[in-house]
Amino acid sequence: MKILLVFATFVTATCSEQLFVGDQVLRITASNEEQITLLRVLGEQAELQVDFWRHPTSPGRPADLRVPFPSLQAVKNFLESNSISYSIMIKDVQELLDEEKKTMMKSRRIGRSTKTFDFASYHTIDEIYDWIDMLVDGHPSLVSKIQIGQSYENRPLYVLKFSTGGSNRPAIWLDTGIHSREWVTQATGIWTANKIAEEYGQDPSVTAILDSMDIFFEIITNPDGFAFTHSSNRMWRKTRSINASSHCVGVDPNRNWDAGFGGSGSSSNPCSDIYRGPYAHSEREVKAIVDFIHSHGNMKSVISIHSYSQMLLFPYGYKTEPVPNHQELNELAKKAVNDLAVLYGTKYTYGSIVDTIYLADGTTVDWAYDNGVKYSFSFELRDTGRYGFLLPSSQIIPTATETWPALLDIMVYVLEHPY
Ligand SMILES: [Zn+2]
Repeated sequence: MKILLVFATFVTATCSEQLFVGDQVLRITASNEEQITLLRVLGEQAELQVDFWRHPTSPGRPADLRVPFPSLQAVKNFLESNSISYSIMIKDVQELLDEEKKTMMKSRRIGRSTKTFDFASYHTIDEIYDWIDMLVDGHPSLVSKIQIGQSYENRPLYVLKFSTGGSNRPAIWLDTGIHSREWVTQATGIWTANKIAEEYGQDPSVTAILDSMDIFFEIITNPDGFAFTHSSNRMWRKTRSINASSHCVGVDPNRNWDAGFGGSGSSSNPCSDIYRGPYAHSEREVKAIVDFIHSHGNMKSVISIHSYSQMLLFPYGYKTEPVPNHQELNELAKKAVNDLAVLYGTKYTYGSIVDTIYLADGTTVDWAYDNGVKYSFSFELRDTGRYGFLLPSSQIIPTATETWPALLDIMVYVLEHPY
């Protein structure tokens, strides 16, 4: 009987989706370095199971922390007893998840009947892979699908290639979803890839870009993590690689690149959400891009898209020293965020990663820059924390639409500044 019970618990635990009933997201503002240190210590308490949506970096800059319901009282007591100020951003995470699920189900019913793809909805990995094939079918002389490798769980790593011909033309790399829970990024990726395909031959900028350059676009950059956010844990950020020396799964694929790898802007603890992995490029999803960009040899720009915070960032993240063309990147970022604000007034901050957020090592854009890609940028899309990773799907199209001019600014600049 006891064995049966244990088995039943195991089955329930592995087959069902993790719930977040009563979990809250707290916005915490530390007022000095000592409080920052206390917050970091809080984040390391394994038994509390807290999850930083935005890590504490410097005094005055807010950190967002998801606190599971059973830990709420302890965490609030801790904050209050240390005079650390906080407010409640999300009062019940599960309520937002239920809402998200409901709209996805609704969209799926509509999608089946009309056979049209719903850009205003979140989609599963299979739906997105089907859509990729549809895009290629619809634009056979412009778009193709290539596979650059396999994920840890052996899913294909697909990249869309936009090309009007030539061989090994100068190229622009775009990726979304390297952090799997940042759902608005994959959704923006779909909209943007479609936009590129639709605008070739229509929009003079897109046409000029694709007449002399190629665009590579990886929409589901962390497929195992993404599948896991749908099947088991909506809050999953990392890869799904299994660690030989820990019960904790996965590596932060944006701390795994060989650029300042192993510094203080990442963690050596496999249970941390910013675990850098056992060595640089240990993650297949990262290594595949590294190998692809190296073998391509003509990548002029890398744009890696994350959420949330509304920021446009460029190297470095692993050191405070500015890159040689800091001023140029800063000017370009300034123009891009100004153009992004035109449509809805959405405000972005911009600058180097280290100046804008804090030290972060092993990131995509730093690696790209150190490997000869002069125009290397990272977006943090909407919002600034009201919904965080659970941005309602009604904001997908506004997010993608407002971001498009900023992406175009960067791509046009790259076209006009060959090197
Ligand atoms: Zn991210």
